[in-house]
Amino acid sequence: MSTVTYSCAFCGEDNDVLVDPSGGSRQTFTEDCAVCCRPNLITLAFGDDGTVRLDAVQEYEA
Ligand SMILES: [Zn+2]
Repeated sequence: MSTVTYSCAFCGEDNDVLVDPSGGSRQTFTEDCAVCCRPNLITLAFGDDGTVRLDAVQEYEA
């Protein structure tokens, strides 16, 4: 388990999220921002070399 920091898609504040590579090489889940409490849709992609890529988008798009 390790922690990845992402910027909230709504307010831009940094959030820490725990990531677990054993959950699969590609994971999608919703994480509420600790600052504005709005839901970010998180996509995680783990590389073969141990790198992790994180994308955060607004869960509800207009
Ligand atoms: Zn936020």
